[in-house]
Amino acid sequence: MKTQVREQKGKNYLAALVLAVLVVLPSLAFAAEQLRFKPGFNLFSPQQDVQVGREASAEVEKQLPLVKDAQLERYVSDLGRRLTQDAPNNAGYEWTFKVVNSQDINAFALPGGFIYVNRGVLEAAEDEAQLAGVMAHEIGHVVMRHGTHQASQIMLAQVPLAILGGVLGRSSSLSAQLAEFGISFGVNSIFMKNSRSAESQADQIGTYILYRDGYDPHAMAQFFGIIDKKYPQQGLQFLSDHPNPGNRVKKVDELIPQLGPAKEGKPGSPEFQVAKKKLLAMPPAPKAKPGAAPAASPPSPPPPPSSRLVKYQGEGFAIAHPDNWEVQKGQEGVTLAPPGGVLTGPQGEWAQAYGASVSQYVPRKKGWGLIDATQQLLDSLRQSNPNLRVVKQTSLKIKGRPALSTLLENDSPLPGQKETDRLVTVRAKDAMLAVIFVAPQSAFEAYRPTFDAMLKSLELR
Ligand SMILES: [Zn+2]
Repeated sequence: MKTQVREQKGKNYLAALVLAVLVVLPSLAFAAEQLRFKPGFNLFSPQQDVQVGREASAEVEKQLPLVKDAQLERYVSDLGRRLTQDAPNNAGYEWTFKVVNSQDINAFALPGGFIYVNRGVLEAAEDEAQLAGVMAHEIGHVVMRHGTHQASQIMLAQVPLAILGGVLGRSSSLSAQLAEFGISFGVNSIFMKNSRSAESQADQIGTYILYRDGYDPHAMAQFFGIIDKKYPQQGLQFLSDHPNPGNRVKKVDELIPQLGPAKEGKPGSPEFQVAKKKLLAMPPAPKAKPGAAPAASPPSPPPPPSSRLVKYQGEGFAIAHPDNWEVQKGQEGVTLAPPGGVLTGPQGEWAQAYGASVSQYVPRKKGWGLIDATQQLLDSLRQSNPNLRVVKQTSLKIKGRPALSTLLENDSPLPGQKETDRLVTVRAKDAMLAVIFVAPQSAFEAYRPTFDAMLKSLELR
């Protein structure tokens, strides 16, 4: 379900209004409070991050060829270590930086500070600041502990916290314990797949580190732009592991003035060009081994919704949602989605594949009737969801108030899939409240109990 519509010109006031309220963006992404860089919920200790990362890196290095060149290794490692000195929340991680012999433009970080940069990144970077930007972004994933945060959410979705508390650290191998939760340690494990909110944070930290270390803070976002435009094929895996949180460059540009007075970026060391030349002169990297995952594999489905619900208190409403879902607050509403449940379309627009959104809108004066007001909303949604089709409409009561439930069929943002949407409209105090539940058709039944429980929990002013 796309809730972001392209700019409307003038005459359709309602559509413009609805569009304004339905665009549920992480508008506070760069608010000062986020600059405090606080890692999210985590069942692991930072020491266990290192343990997980060490085990995972051993696994990964069985699968990925590394560039073995002492001078090059030292250069990348020294650069990385220097950057970590400017990283926030840098608490006793074991920093290693290695170059993978792959022409794909990609980089990834394992928990605890094990960072891998593909040869393709060094070859495509125009200067040291851009390379430093990619590395600083990866350092951001480590210090925000995104890998184990995600693992924690997956684990919590399966086992109550009371039991989980005792699970970790019982035996020597964390990988064996995590395997019980379906979390693997090799290439393409969840430790390399980042959610959009994690990406936003890594972008912020990357930019922050660049600034602190004296580089042009635009260099990181600049490089991501270069991948997009100049190397769309080679950069596919990067964008699959590090999905664009939407308006990446713009958001970074907005952050930079908050970091401090503008400075001229330093030129970077001559060793960068030496390293780049050396790589370009080496024989081409081996092609990916058969059996390795293809680039740009379709995103794996999100972890199942936790049966434990937590309450979200909005302006004039409250609703419960699974505690392993992410909350993205917007101007007039909220998007509640499992990690990876919101995708970015080709124009950078948001499209929700899984989860729910709640928003409020004011219909035209004459349109306060439930059916009419719902119709107006549907008309507006159709502008960005041309294949939206009403399957069934039924009336119901929510906390004693008349409400309308509209079951919809729509194109899913997941390639080649249809989705089912359930739109529930009800009159709140001085606006209409719209709740939209979204899941691919094939998954809707599995999500139905969660959606029903959420609807049941809805409180209105
Ligand atoms: Zn990333």
